[in-house]
Amino acid sequence: MTSAAQTVDSLIASHIAGTLPLPAHVLVAAHLQLSDQNRGFAGDLERLGGLGLSQTQPIPLTDRDRRLASLLDGPDTAAPPAAPQQQVGLFPPALRDFVGFDVVDVPWRTKMPGFREHDVGEFDGCHINLFWIRPGRAIPSHTHGGLELTLVLDGAFNDINGRYGRGDIAIADEAVEHRPVAETDRPCIGVAVTDAPLRLTGPLGRRLIDIIGG
Ligand code: ZN
Repeated sequence: MTSAAQTVDSLIASHIAGTLPLPAHVLVAAHLQLSDQNRGFAGDLERLGGLGLSQTQPIPLTDRDRRLASLLDGPDTAAPPAAPQQQVGLFPPALRDFVGFDVVDVPWRTKMPGFREHDVGEFDGCHINLFWIRPGRAIPSHTHGGLELTLVLDGAFNDINGRYGRGDIAIADEAVEHRPVAETDRPCIGVAVTDAPLRLTGPLGRRLIDIIGG
């Protein structure tokens, strides 16, 4: 049995290795910018990877590593103080840089009462969506044609697997039927990455099969 924590760790390892589809890469980078604990874990993995590559020579930064390093740099490290209007921002920098705006500028579409969505697009065979759930609203029970990764950005939701608050990643797949319910104190805002609908083995699903099976 693979625990959710182990699976998130595996996602982080794949993120460091650069093998995730782009939307999942962005989601994990955003998660690391919100999670001090897992940012430390990712740093340990990077150092281990460096030791594996070379024990004596400094490792030149590739463009990808530089981008990754800049993604992993939180707003606390050597960043200039945020201007007042930026402090109201909700999105972690990795997500804001990817979608091009922060929460106040999301062009939401109402999908059903109390549930709004913005389809960011499809990249590397995976969809990435922003969502907004009214306080106390339940999303209808559903299963998944493939894999669904959800990162909570504000508020929280609960489902059969537990509670997910800001910075938490929820993972669901074909075997999971759930009915996420937003907590009542504030809207739940997040970002979700999914395989193309009804595709059982899209890039992200194959990746997770590799992770779990390997
Ligand atoms: Zn779901």
